Amino acid sequence: MQQSQRARGTKAVTYDAALRGKHRAPLIAEGLVVFTPQHDGLTPQSLLRHKDGPCSHDLYVAEGRVCERRFIDGNETLYTPLPVEELECRDGKNSTRFYHRITIPCPTKTHQIRIRVDETDEDRQVDPKTKKQRFNRTEHLRQVPPSTPAGRRLKGFRQDSESVHSRFDQAYPHERVPAYGARGALLIYLGYAWLNNSITRALNALHS
Ligand SMILES: [Zn+2]
Repeated sequence: MQQSQRARGTKAVTYDAALRGKHRAPLIAEGLVVFTPQHDGLTPQSLLRHKDGPCSHDLYVAEGRVCERRFIDGNETLYTPLPVEELECRDGKNSTRFYHRITIPCPTKTHQIRIRVDETDEDRQVDPKTKKQRFNRTEHLRQVPPSTPAGRRLKGFRQDSESVHSRFDQAYPHERVPAYGARGALLIYLGYAWLNNSITRALNALHS
């Protein structure tokens, strides 16, 4: 967990893609900024149609953030990410609320809107048609969208053990540890940790 220097009092958690929206939702409600890489294979979700005078903007959620849907050549769909001016944090009744303050660039006027990025009571209601939760907001909409400079920076704060686990898998053919049974696996884990610590120690001695 990191304490931010520039936004005092803000606590951020970074983890890997195993943490999904349903896991992030209660942490966000507690007032934490939760960062994990975005899961592959999510399809764009319809969010709302923003109407203002003669304007109508179709807003969708793609790549973890609010996008405007546009059609090119009449059939190709394009999701243009909208600039997030600020991640706002406010105390709600029972939980902390987070918003993206978004601008919609437009020739008529620059629209400004706020979109909740924590799970709302409405999101949790069950849709009678699909029998599923209405909107899995914290799965699709991210406090810090991963493909942004802030997202890439937060990714670097993941526990180092995660990359060690990954290197451990990659060290063996087919990314599988050649061990049968728990005792055999434990022996290989300990051997790997021993080797890893020895290399770290040797490198440290070289540089100090
Ligand atoms: Zn407009």
